[in-house]
Amino acid sequence: MSRFWSEGVDALHPYVPGEQSNRDGVLKLNTNESPYPPSPMALQAMKNVSGDQLRRYPDPESNALRQALAAYHGVNRDQVFVGNGSDEVLGFAFKAFFCGRGALCFPDISYSFYPVWAQLFEIETHVLSVDDAYQIPLDALPSGLGGIIFPNPNAPTGIATSLAQIEALLRRFPDSVVVVDEAYVDYGTETAIDLLHAFDNLLIVRTMSKSRGLAGLRVGYALGSAELIEGLVRIKDSFNSYPLDAIAQAGALASVQDDVYFQETVSAVIDARHQLTQGLTDLGFDILPSSANFVFAKNSRKSGQEWQALLREQNILVRHFAKPRLSDWLRITVGTPEEVRKLLQALALL
Ligand code: PMP
Repeated sequence: MSRFWSEGVDALHPYVPGEQSNRDGVLKLNTNESPYPPSPMALQAMKNVSGDQLRRYPDPESNALRQALAAYHGVNRDQVFVGNGSDEVLGFAFKAFFCGRGALCFPDISYSFYPVWAQLFEIETHVLSVDDAYQIPLDALPSGLGGIIFPNPNAPTGIATSLAQIEALLRRFPDSVVVVDEAYVDYGTETAIDLLHAFDNLLIVRTMSKSRGLAGLRVGYALGSAELIEGLVRIKDSFNSYPLDAIAQAGALASVQDDVYFQETVSAVIDARHQLTQGLTDLGFDILPSSANFVFAKNSRKSGQEWQALLREQNILVRHFAKPRLSDWLRITVGTPEEVRKLLQALALL
């Protein structure tokens, strides 16, 4: 332990993202990025940002972007919050709504950043085991929870939770914030946005890193009641009153305005997911029903770790989690049809 930090800092286990690789010829299917670049309109808008715009501070409230997102999702601008990737937005939500509020509930198979923030902010947790079908048993929650968070569809399983279950949860815990992390919602899961009109305890968190092909830009956002958004703004302003830079605001705005490109690229990924699911099934893999841009698959011929290592030797990166209920599984990001073919060909030879 360093003499410069406390035991609390010593006990932290930071989130470790999937391996990055800039090596030529690597097929990178381990971090759920889009296989397609962002909208050409978004690229152009970012190139058009002028020296004068960069000389000045950016709009601290990202008003043009928030207005566009509000119109796109059918809510008011004061119901939209933007930040540097949804990780930042989620971190603010933990600080604003889960600190000092009693036990925070999240599933035991879900985004592995949740326990990291809980630990960082010293939040008591109630961990909910997913059932044998890898569904989140939201009806099995104890009363008196301080907050609830889960991804929909779940990650890394890809399994969606129904809106009826989410609605029941919002009704049951009217004084606790329920965060639905919709990072992968665009690939075929029903969004909870309609529930915003009836429930002021719902916070939906979204990212531009997946379906909008902008992971490198770091833009995420939240939709919720004006009261919840106000809570996030208080936290944000305490850390960084200029969360989104001018280039990010311009690129994200143009991306929202180019719905044709967005729809095209999302449906190409959904088609390729079907191709990948079929191909893996033909090769004897078990696959959970995915509503995301990745599939969760296993094949008992080898452990998840062995499959991952063998693919890595072929310059193909997929994700494996060395955790008790996950160790047989691989999480494979859906690529282009060509990338899917390449992966299936490599697996067929292993
Ligand atoms: N939520 C989930 C469920 C994720 O898998 C990710 C990606 N690692 C994020 C949030 C964060 O995405 P970003 O910070 O790139 O918006």
